[in-house]
Amino acid sequence: LVSREKQSEDTIVDVRGEKIGDGQTHFVMGPCSVESYEQVREVALAMKEQGLKLLRGGAFKPRTSPYDFQGLGVEGLKILRRVADELDMAVVSEITHPGNIEVALDYVDIIQIGARNMQNFELLKAAGQVERPVWLKRGLSATIEEFIYAAEYIVSNGNDQLILCERGIRTYEKATRNTLDISSVPILKKETHLPVAVDVTHSTGRRDLLLPAAKAAIAIGADVVMAEVHPDPATALSDSAQQMDIPQFKSFMEGVQPLLRMN
Ligand code: PEP
Ligand code: MN
Repeated sequence: LVSREKQSEDTIVDVRGEKIGDGQTHFVMGPCSVESYEQVREVALAMKEQGLKLLRGGAFKPRTSPYDFQGLGVEGLKILRRVADELDMAVVSEITHPGNIEVALDYVDIIQIGARNMQNFELLKAAGQVERPVWLKRGLSATIEEFIYAAEYIVSNGNDQLILCERGIRTYEKATRNTLDISSVPILKKETHLPVAVDVTHSTGRRDLLLPAAKAAIAIGADVVMAEVHPDPATALSDSAQQMDIPQFKSFMEGVQPLLRMN
């Protein structure tokens, strides 16, 4: 169902007026984890200043260690919703359990399925059965074919509002946290009709590579660039090494400006 052979026109996912897949470049930005109302609002205000609308933040955090911060849960979703409503923005947040899809509907405009859950088939089915856009991230070690089959799980269950997100894959290379498989973007654009995003934060794991990776993503045809922004990355409860602070976020936006496809 997701293949170009089935549908030749690009799918456009409309999220509160933001038309992802319309040929323009869109941005999903926000902190790794929701930590407080003030923290989210500070990032959202900086985004708003840049004309950005899609606010992300993790409330249910899939952490490698059980001893690391696990997220604020529903409390975190409520903070995102409150800030987004105050500033007329849209919320993107990860859901890790099929049982939480229903509660997500009350707070989230785009349901994110994280890399570690790309083959959590019960979660894919549950997300496929609701009328809410889904942001599906490529698995840590998933081939493009496996990624497309995961997408197929969602669409075949009835939900065609889907965005695919390349977030880097595991290789032997240690200079970056993951290896950004930039060629997956044109491959996914060619093989499927779905919008394609690139997460420059988790793919590189390096603040100094966010801008060059974003430029590459836009140049190669990505519909969306995703990155993490935190008011004070040094004190962040997760992904402290790779989030941008607000001045860095502003120069990042200036840096991508010449490449943007906009009306
Ligand atoms: C995230 O985007 O918040 C995240 C945890 O990323 P990933 O699932 O790609 O590791
Ligand atoms: Mn993160």
